Amino acid sequence: MQETPRGSRFHIGFFGRTNSGKSTLVNSLAGQEISLVSPVSGTTTDPVYKSMELLPLGPVVLIDTAGLDDQSELGSLRKEKTLEAMAKTDLAVLVVSSQAQDFSQEKQYIALLKEKKVKTLCAVNCPSGEAPLRLPFDLPCIALDAGKAEAMPGFKKFLIDQADWDFENPPVTAHLAPEGALVMLVMPQDIQAPKGRLILPQVQITRELLDRRCRVISVLPDGIGPMLEALREEPALVVTDSQVFRQVNKALPKAIPLTSFSILLSESKGDISSFLEGAKALDRLSPGDRVLIMEACTHHPLEGDIAREKLPQLLEKFVGGPIDFQIFSGPGFPKNIGEYQLILHCGGCMINRRNMLSKLSEAQLHGVPMTNFGIAMAYMNGMLKRICY
Ligand code: SF4
Repeated sequence: MQETPRGSRFHIGFFGRTNSGKSTLVNSLAGQEISLVSPVSGTTTDPVYKSMELLPLGPVVLIDTAGLDDQSELGSLRKEKTLEAMAKTDLAVLVVSSQAQDFSQEKQYIALLKEKKVKTLCAVNCPSGEAPLRLPFDLPCIALDAGKAEAMPGFKKFLIDQADWDFENPPVTAHLAPEGALVMLVMPQDIQAPKGRLILPQVQITRELLDRRCRVISVLPDGIGPMLEALREEPALVVTDSQVFRQVNKALPKAIPLTSFSILLSESKGDISSFLEGAKALDRLSPGDRVLIMEACTHHPLEGDIAREKLPQLLEKFVGGPIDFQIFSGPGFPKNIGEYQLILHCGGCMINRRNMLSKLSEAQLHGVPMTNFGIAMAYMNGMLKRICY
């Protein structure tokens, strides 16, 4: 893997009414044409995502969005996508045309971003060097010509100076394994992990441990016993795939701390205390209840898929009867989330922390408990006390 995954990048969203210069500004900042620029209103349809390095800060994703004032036939769909993009945005730039006279749309943007607690900056696009506008709102602001490459160093400095750059996903192993510790990773190489590949959560946790100078050993589930015998010291921590919790627990002395990739991810991508609280709803489920299983990315489901087979089977056994499941894959939420008794979410390795926290708030807003796959599996296997997090 050569690139920082999108889910680990800081997301900068560009918002504003149609033809305010958002796409021009994104293209200039990226130094390449990533969004179609045209004087025709509503040229940007779905949000456009561009990964780049914004030095000296590091990997970011620029999101160019459609205007909320888009009156075209596809307008409402575009608005939905723009709101979805807001849920992933760590820092917002509201682009305002120097020709603007009515600021109702801009105020609407500011209210929506404030509601989502997204820090918002303003860029006034003055293509002909007009005098900057007097804006009826109080945001950190810069006036520039969005189409001029020469304006970009000043704009980058503005972004860097104004933003809170503590966006790094917090290390999730630090409190479980000190620097230099020996850590064992249990990684089943089944149909879910195609030949020649490791899955992203395994890659991310391995990289974090190596960054912290830990000594990392990897085994298959049936290799735990032989490896423990071969080692001169016990691992300080064992991290496993949640699907083999029981098997790993059996093979491991009780004194060795155990956790899972998914549970570690739930801490870096979300709020583990909310997920633990959400897991209690498993006890309140009855046959016939509705459970929403969410995956943050779309992928081709394989035989033995955790979301479509293993988790539903375990849950129905736990509840003692059939459950009405719905699977939702991809970003965002289905519209009917209030109809569910519980939401089970994947580890979210492909999305950023902001996006997962937005999903959690949305679930809380509708009064629906939400937990993650790994925590749910540990809970239903009666192993939550055995697991460390
Ligand atoms: S379903 Fe979730 S945990 Fe699995 S790969 Fe996609 S984002 Fe990552």
